[in-house]
Amino acid sequence: MNIGRAELGAVRLEELRFDNRYGRLPPAFYTRLAPTPLPDPYLVAFNPAAAELIGLAAEEAQRGEFAEIFCGNRLLPGFDPLAAIYAGHQFGVFVPELGDGRAILLGEATAAQGAWDLQLKGAGQTPYSRMGDGRAVLRSTIREYLCSEAMHALGIPTTRALAIVGSDQPVIRENVESAAVLTRMARSHVRFGTFELFSSRRQHEHVQTLADYVIERHYPQLREADEPYLELLRAVIARTAQLIAQWQAVGFCHGVMNTDNMSILGLTIDYGPYGFIEGFDWGHVCNHSDHSGRYAYNMQPRVAHWNLYCLAQALLPLFEVEQAQSALEAYEAQYERHYLALMRAKLGLATEQGEDAALIKDLLQLLHQDRIDYSNCFRRLANFDSAHGAGNAALRELFADGAAYADWLARYRTRLALEQSADGARKARMDRVNPKYVLRNYLAETAIRKAADERDYSEIERLTLVLSRPYDEQPGMQAYAEPAPQWASALAVSCSS
Ligand code: AMP
Ligand code: MG
Repeated sequence: MNIGRAELGAVRLEELRFDNRYGRLPPAFYTRLAPTPLPDPYLVAFNPAAAELIGLAAEEAQRGEFAEIFCGNRLLPGFDPLAAIYAGHQFGVFVPELGDGRAILLGEATAAQGAWDLQLKGAGQTPYSRMGDGRAVLRSTIREYLCSEAMHALGIPTTRALAIVGSDQPVIRENVESAAVLTRMARSHVRFGTFELFSSRRQHEHVQTLADYVIERHYPQLREADEPYLELLRAVIARTAQLIAQWQAVGFCHGVMNTDNMSILGLTIDYGPYGFIEGFDWGHVCNHSDHSGRYAYNMQPRVAHWNLYCLAQALLPLFEVEQAQSALEAYEAQYERHYLALMRAKLGLATEQGEDAALIKDLLQLLHQDRIDYSNCFRRLANFDSAHGAGNAALRELFADGAAYADWLARYRTRLALEQSADGARKARMDRVNPKYVLRNYLAETAIRKAADERDYSEIERLTLVLSRPYDEQPGMQAYAEPAPQWASALAVSCSS
C-alpha cells in the first residue's frame, strides 16, 4: 500500500504551520529581529525523532533549503523571529538584563500534540548580546545536540534538538573555531529569570501577564484554581524537585545553574559545560570556570531550592510571602522522596525500608572513596548473585577496598532477602533504570574532533543512536560504555561556547 505523506502526518517544510503566542505579549518582552545570515551553510546533524514531533518529513533534511532555513538565512512563511529578554542570578549575583544574546525564537510549530517553540541558537547578535558575537561554535552545538537527546532517552525532561547547521565562518573563542547553529525545540523557553526581569523593574503588571501566559499555555489545569499563581509556583517547585532528583540519580551535572538557565517547565535547558559523573565524587565540578564549586554535583539540589526562592520572590506581587514560604518549604521533602525512590529503583529494591537511605549513602561513599565509575557500578550490581552472596568479578574489580565492599554487599544481600527479591526479576528491573550508556565527555569529544577536524559527522549520528537506547545492552557497542581512556583524562569544559 502506498502511504502518502499526508496520512503519516509528515509534511514538507513549506507546509509547516507557525504561530508565535510569545510574540503577542507586550513589546517589553522581546525584540523582533531577523537572524544574521551565515555564509554557505551545510547540514551537520539532523534528528528525525524531533522532526516527527512537529510533523516534518525526514526527507526534507536532504533539501538545500533545510540548511538555509535552520541557520536563519531564509524564513518560512509564518516565522515571527524575536529575541526574548530576561534577567537572572549568575553565580549568585543578580544581573538585571540578560536575554537571548545569540538565540532567536522563530515561532511555534503547531503540531498535533501541541505547539513546539523552534529556536535558533547561534543565529547572530541581538540587543541582548552584551559583549558577545551572537554565535555558537560547532563544538558547543554538538555537545548540546548530543546531550539533550541523551537526556530525553533517559527519560529526563529536556529541550530537544532538531538539527545542527554548520558554516566555515570563523568564530573566536580560546581558539578560532567554526560557527554553527543549533535548532532547539521546547514547549517553552521561559526561564525563572524572565520573571525576575519584570519584578526587578517593578513592572508587576508584566509579571502577572507572563504568569497568565505560562498558565494558559503550559499549566491550563491551574486556570480554575483559587490561587492560580501560588499553584503555578507549587507546580514549578514540584517539577524542579523531580528534575533535580533525576539529575542526581543519573549523575548529571548541569554546570551553570544560574536562574536564567532554569526552565519554568522543569526542563534541562542551556547545555554548556555539563557532565555525567564517571568516577564518583560528591563534590564533582564539571565546569572548569566554576572555581568555588558553587554548582558542584552535591550542591545541585540546594542550588535549585535557592533558585526557586528567586522565582518566588519575583512572583511575590501575586501572593503573600507566607504562602510562598510554605510552598518553598515543601521542596526538600519532595526532592528527597523522588531521589530516594529513584535510588531504590537503581538498587532494584521493590519495597521501602527505613534503612534504605543509609544503604544508598554508604554505597555512594564507597564509590566516592575510590572514584568508582558510577554508571558501570550500578549496571554490574544488577548481576549480583544474591543466593551465593558473591559479587561478580566485574563488580568486585571496581572496588579497591575489598573488606568495605564485602561488608556493603552483605548488607545489600540481607536487604534483598527481606523482600524475597528474585535475582532475575531484580536484574530486569535494574537494567531498565541503570543506563549502560551515558554521554561521557570523551565520547562527545571524539564526535566533535571528527566533525571539526575531518568534516566527518558520522560519529554524531552513531553516538546519538547508541544514546537513544541507554538501557539496552546493544551488542557490539561495549566500547561506548567504557570509562575515559588515558588521552581524555584531563579533558576540561568551560563556559566558553
Ligand atoms: P549561558 O551561560 O550560555 O546561559 O549564557 C548567558 C548569557 O550570555 C545569555 O543571555 C546568552 O544569550 C549570552 N551569551 C552567551 N554566549 C553568547 C555569545 N557568543 N554572544 C552573545 N550572547 C551570548
Ligand atoms: Mg543561558
